[in-house]
Amino acid sequence: MFKPTAVVTGGAGFLGSHLCDRLLAEGMKVYCVDNLITGNLDNIAHLFGNENFTYIKHDVTNFIHIPGRVDYILHFASPASPIDYLKLPIQTLKVGSLGTHKALGLAKEKKARFLIASTSEVYGDPTIHPQKEEYWGNVNPIGPRGVYDEAKRFSEALTMAYNRYHGVETRIVRIFNTYGPRMRLDDGRALPAFVGQALRGEDITVFGDGSQTRSFCYVSDLVDGIFRLLMSNEIYPVNIGNPSEITIKQFAEEVIKHTATKSKIIYKDLPEDDPKVRQPDITRAKSILGWSPKVDRQEGLKITIDYFKKRIAHLLV
Ligand code: NAD
Ligand code: UDP
Repeated sequence: MFKPTAVVTGGAGFLGSHLCDRLLAEGMKVYCVDNLITGNLDNIAHLFGNENFTYIKHDVTNFIHIPGRVDYILHFASPASPIDYLKLPIQTLKVGSLGTHKALGLAKEKKARFLIASTSEVYGDPTIHPQKEEYWGNVNPIGPRGVYDEAKRFSEALTMAYNRYHGVETRIVRIFNTYGPRMRLDDGRALPAFVGQALRGEDITVFGDGSQTRSFCYVSDLVDGIFRLLMSNEIYPVNIGNPSEITIKQFAEEVIKHTATKSKIIYKDLPEDDPKVRQPDITRAKSILGWSPKVDRQEGLKITIDYFKKRIAHLLV
């Protein structure tokens, strides 16, 4: 029986591995291409016995070879947490530029539909709230976060150029903060940092005074929005995220409550260019894709905390 073939770059990462699961469940063959720079084979270990799944260890800033027909390419390779991209600035710029070029070249060659994982970071430290797709953003190109933000902005520009000049079918998803099982405990993002600290009984490190806001989306909701976008005809960017906004201090307090820890909040310096607010306007996702998030933070946090408890118990063995 015919099965469409999808390539997921960054498929051994947090989001990429959940996407591999979803595409396989949709009846596709999946090639996962990842150099494991921030990913982990544990995330895809359960797929190794699946005849429709192939893992290729490869750095996508170099020519990508995939045998045979390819129908969909989802370009998710990139360091994504601030700690990772501050540690890997050149690799981040390269995978966003050279890597996106190679992945688009593969899409052109194979006449495949291409979807790029963009980010709310293209809006930088936003002066419009909540953020609509029409907003062009407020990004410091030479600040420490510029390596990630500008790589993603370049990726979007290159994607539109391949659409306009080569006729490649393209999709752009702007992903807002997403969380769930398979995040790395040590990736430095707020959720794994707070949960790890809470479960170990350490102080919870809130940066700045904690009044900055974020809007956290549970991973299954995000993956559903991405799949709908992939199957849609929409070429312009679509925000996917959960509009439920919370300050980082309140978020730390929620983690304390859910983990029943005795940990206390301590305050550390706010990193340079840390956005003060972030909340997706999902009007386009709702109207074009019929999508809105289903999992609220209480439920998502519970599942994610249980996952981290098991990871920590396992690491201690
Ligand atoms: P992640 O670090 O878990 O996954 C990224 C994966 O890409 C890793 O497996 C890594 O090894 C791989 N990779 C990096 N450079 C590579 C290269 N040159 N060649 C091959 N593989 C490479 O991060 P994530 O949270 O799963 O993010 C995935 C994508 O989604 C990224 O493009 C990120 O920018 C985007 N995104 C994520 C979020 C979020 O909240 N998680 C928000 C916005 C955008
Ligand atoms: N943050 C924090 N303590 C931590 C890690 C992060 O207070 O240990 C803050 C960070 O400064 C930012 C917010 O939490 O304001 C979300 O950070 P994250 O790294 O998760 O993602 P970002 O949205 O900044 O890319």
